[in-house]
Amino acid sequence: MRTRVTRSFSFEAAHQLPWHPGKCKRLHGHHYRFEVTVEGPLDERGVVVDFDDLKRVVHAEVVDRYDHQFLNDFLDNPTAELLAADAWKRIEAAGMHVVALRLWETPDSSVELLAE
Ligand SMILES: [Zn+2]
Repeated sequence: MRTRVTRSFSFEAAHQLPWHPGKCKRLHGHHYRFEVTVEGPLDERGVVVDFDDLKRVVHAEVVDRYDHQFLNDFLDNPTAELLAADAWKRIEAAGMHVVALRLWETPDSSVELLAE
């Protein structure tokens, strides 16, 4: 049996995709939402990770970094896919065992990254 825990986050940010043939070429913003899933053994407290600890790490590494920013200042090509990968790497580098991350760019469109 494996145990996974997931927490949801959101932030607002602007970007533009110069390669895009349509309207995404122009400067615009999104209300990004994302879900981070971590997996691991239960500790002596009976949890994979304290939800508060996960929140603290994700806010420090991702939300505080990107909220109300122009994402092109941070990423050369801020697609949902590459933004999700950047978030994954930052959260993992902060010590969380990430196994899945889903990023919603719009209410209808999301990308999901999964551990190999
Ligand atoms: Zn966009």
